[in-house]
Amino acid sequence: MMVKTLPQVHIETFGCQMNESDSELVRSLLKQEGFGFTEDRERADVVLVNTCAIRENAHKKIYLHLSELRAVKKQRPLVVGVLGCMAQNLKSELAEKEPLIDVLAGPDSYRQLPRLLTNALDAQEQGLRQKAFALDLSEYETYENIMPDRNNGVNAWITVMRGCDNFCSFCVVPYTRGRERSRDPESILLEARDASTRGFKQITLLGQNVNSYCHEGWDFAKLIAAVADTPGIDRVRFTSPHPKDFPPALIDAIATHPKICKHIHLPLQAGSDRILELMGRTYTGAAYLALVDRIRSRIPDIVLTTDIICGFCSESEEDFQTTHRIIEQTQLDSAYIFKYSERKHTIAARKYADDVPDRVKGMRVAQLLETQRRITLERNRRYIGKTMQVLVERDATRSSTQAMGKTDGNITVVWEKGTGDFRPGTLITKQIFDASAATLYGK
Ligand code: SF4
Repeated sequence: MMVKTLPQVHIETFGCQMNESDSELVRSLLKQEGFGFTEDRERADVVLVNTCAIRENAHKKIYLHLSELRAVKKQRPLVVGVLGCMAQNLKSELAEKEPLIDVLAGPDSYRQLPRLLTNALDAQEQGLRQKAFALDLSEYETYENIMPDRNNGVNAWITVMRGCDNFCSFCVVPYTRGRERSRDPESILLEARDASTRGFKQITLLGQNVNSYCHEGWDFAKLIAAVADTPGIDRVRFTSPHPKDFPPALIDAIATHPKICKHIHLPLQAGSDRILELMGRTYTGAAYLALVDRIRSRIPDIVLTTDIICGFCSESEEDFQTTHRIIEQTQLDSAYIFKYSERKHTIAARKYADDVPDRVKGMRVAQLLETQRRITLERNRRYIGKTMQVLVERDATRSSTQAMGKTDGNITVVWEKGTGDFRPGTLITKQIFDASAATLYGK
């Protein structure tokens, strides 16, 4: 008798932590329905590519990857599925231009994947091609009864809300992930306890607009404090909040709960009020500065990081210099700085001209990077001579004789591995003896 083997799935994830977290959901959903998983693409019957639509670079990487899969598919039977934001945002373009794709599924349609993939595999066995698309956005789907299938590690991502109602004019998220909805806190706390039982020491709460979490009397401040009370969990982080709604209760929770990390990623995006208004960010440069002051006066050792977009539609040199001044003034600990790249279907793509030349965008990015690098180095050098608590993560990237971990403020620390101080998930103390703009060196 022929024994039918489990179809093996290989999943490749691009983009943000939300996509990493969604890939864990997809693994769980497919395993429940009898699919196996392999790390080796060559052995896979199905390759799923979980995509990101946030920047042009991400698109390019994914198209390159799909062209590799096209070559594989010429050699042997293979079902290819494209998931995530790019599937949702570029459905017709992908469906027409990429004949290799068998299944397209957006972020709210993953429950349909077992059925769609089974159909595609059955059709392939009969020598047929069957394309299937599942791209409806939902107002309710939060996958709250699915326990993600996590790889072992130190950090567990837990998605607490999905979608976004802010419609920042440059952003595709409201179109690819739909309207904002928050998960039942009980299901989040259950997931936190499960992660702790499995040995995770840190939890990162995820949401596109995490501080607008709201569920039957629970706000984000109450939720994060409850998660931080989970026995066995040493640290809780969150990403990303919107500066427009950062309530005092949340600042208090971060200030007072010993397990909530003293790190806030607070996307500024631009400093000029005119550009912030065009971006639809609903705060001014002055309001952002005031928020930074409020946070620092309540939590003096807070680590603050940010995102900046250079060269948004009509950004003048004066607008850019306002952003530059705010970066100098706030002295944030680090920043992710990008060129603006127009995304299809967004408000900016429909209403404003992407009229800042690429060369100018590049020059502005370089200028801000140089300033931020100097500030980050100065801020990191303040830690020299101090003893810091570090959560051990893994081998350092550059040398296997070194280990790396993170401070409470999410700054990377590297040290020579000795005996007894390299067990991922343990909290150890290190004295900092040197610092670069990216790393603290401990002993
Ligand atoms: S807050 Fe703005 S940038 Fe963030 S996900 Fe929502 S629309 Fe996008």
